[in-house]
Amino acid sequence: MQVDTDDRPFVLVWELTQACELACEHCRADAQPRRHPDELTTAEGKRLLDEAREFAEGQIVVLSGGDPLARDDAVELVDHGTDRGLRMTMTPSGTSSLTRQRFDELADAGLRRLALSIDGGSPTTHDAFRGESGSFESTVRAARQAREAGLPIQINTTVCADTVDALPAVRDLVGDLGAVLWSVFFLVPVGRGRLLDPVSPECADRVMGWLHDVREDADFGVKTTEAPQYRRVGLQRRQGDGTGASAGGAEGGGGPPAGIGRRTGITAGDGFAFVSHVGEVYPSGFLPESAGNVRDESVVDIYRDAPLFVRLRDYDALRGKCGACEFRHVCGGSRSRAFAHTGDPLESDPLCPYVPDGYEGPLPEPGRG
Ligand code: SF4
Repeated sequence: MQVDTDDRPFVLVWELTQACELACEHCRADAQPRRHPDELTTAEGKRLLDEAREFAEGQIVVLSGGDPLARDDAVELVDHGTDRGLRMTMTPSGTSSLTRQRFDELADAGLRRLALSIDGGSPTTHDAFRGESGSFESTVRAARQAREAGLPIQINTTVCADTVDALPAVRDLVGDLGAVLWSVFFLVPVGRGRLLDPVSPECADRVMGWLHDVREDADFGVKTTEAPQYRRVGLQRRQGDGTGASAGGAEGGGGPPAGIGRRTGITAGDGFAFVSHVGEVYPSGFLPESAGNVRDESVVDIYRDAPLFVRLRDYDALRGKCGACEFRHVCGGSRSRAFAHTGDPLESDPLCPYVPDGYEGPLPEPGRG
């Protein structure tokens, strides 16, 4: 689907709550056992969904958390969004809230996809990472029950030093579970994720090359999150075997050079927006810089016109080696990771080992945020 990302996000995430029974080591939300008293109410949430419909018929809305099912109005909100013509999806936590009855209710309410997190191919690796014994078994059981209820499933996996060796086993499991998409998230040091070690930039590139191989062979789709250099890696592979032509064709002036083409992915603020549990609008959940609050302004106006969002969609405004890079219009680096490391969302992404030809400026420091 072609989306003009100046006009609307491809994906709008609403963090229904930060409440969650789990306390995963990598949690972006730094999830809490109890709901925040100032969360958007049901009525405010429905108004937000009504505004989201102004973006477009079929706008994708992800209900996330915390655990979105920690709110007792989660099914009602899916139903409301579906009724308004939105494509409603959800990322629940692997908790006792995942029951067959709940899946049936979500399917009846029109939920289009359910995303579950699996970070290891066995109970030992997954449960150690999640910090919760039994989490692997309950998540795999939930994935099977969701499919029985007719819900397409997506598996989300975090890549960091603790999980990278388990990726082949997770890939096999994603196939066994019949998932439609594997979303592979490269750690950004935000929330409790600050306590984890990222992989090195060179290792990240190797994993992205491997993911391209997986995508060619698998029955499911593969996408990366907070790793737009996946597109650069793909282009370099195709250029290496002489098939580097792209749909976008040659560009002159400040655009991408011949053979590189235009971006087709989404990054923080460009095709992606995040509404926090108290209504703050961020370019991404991993870039917690507020551009406004839905209690004061429409999410549509914030996405289209807030200076932070407009700046993030200008790839010629990037700094450092990302700003000098010929791949910036197809990649642009993770703005969230640049922000986590430097406090400046326009700086270079430290997870990328690529150095543009002739670039002699400073290189970002890899490592912990
Ligand atoms: S230097 Fe920046 S824009 Fe270029 S490939 Fe790396 S992350 Fe992407």
